[in-house]
Amino acid sequence: MGSKENFNLIHQLAEVIQGEVGATRAAVDAGMCEHERQIGQTGVTVRPKLYIACGVSGAVQHRAGMQESSKIISINKDPKAPINAIADYTIIGDVMEVLPKMIKYYKANTK
Ligand SMILES: Cc1cc2nc3c(=O)[nH]c(=O)nc-3n(C[C@H](O)[C@H](O)[C@H](O)COP(=O)(O)OP(=O)(O)OC[C@H]3O[C@@H](n4cnc5c(N)ncnc54)[C@H](O)[C@@H]3O)c2cc1C
Repeated sequence: MGSKENFNLIHQLAEVIQGEVGATRAAVDAGMCEHERQIGQTGVTVRPKLYIACGVSGAVQHRAGMQESSKIISINKDPKAPINAIADYTIIGDVMEVLPKMIKYYKANTK
């Protein structure tokens, strides 16, 4: 996500779809998110119905914490990102363009 300010988009999306925010170790180490929300080998394990990976490479240590999710959507500008291999749906694009559209769409369509 690049910065704590950009990471705020994740919180906005979570709010409109009533989800929870998790993070990679890289995002936690960069100060974008608190450690309690780190998903993976040295974080927590989650198994949500829907996991939306925003700019997540899909390192094995991260996958250990989320790969049992029922459905995985990956948003990544790199078509070859390892997360795409386990994702059910992949959006190839910039999170800074895709996330605002998702937030706008869900806000308009969520009852
Ligand atoms: C012992 C050990 C334990 C670890 N434990 C954990 C753990 O518990 N959890 C964990 O997550 N990691 C853990 N790691 C770290 C792990 O190996 C990875 O370094 C980390 O998961 C990478 O995080 P990332 O995907 O956010 O960052 P990166 O690997 O830097 O990947 C960023 C991704 O975002 C994409 N991207 C960049 N900019 C954009 C954009 N604007 N729009 C769309 N896509 C974009 C890139 O294409 C890339 O795929 C551990 C490592 C070790 C050695």
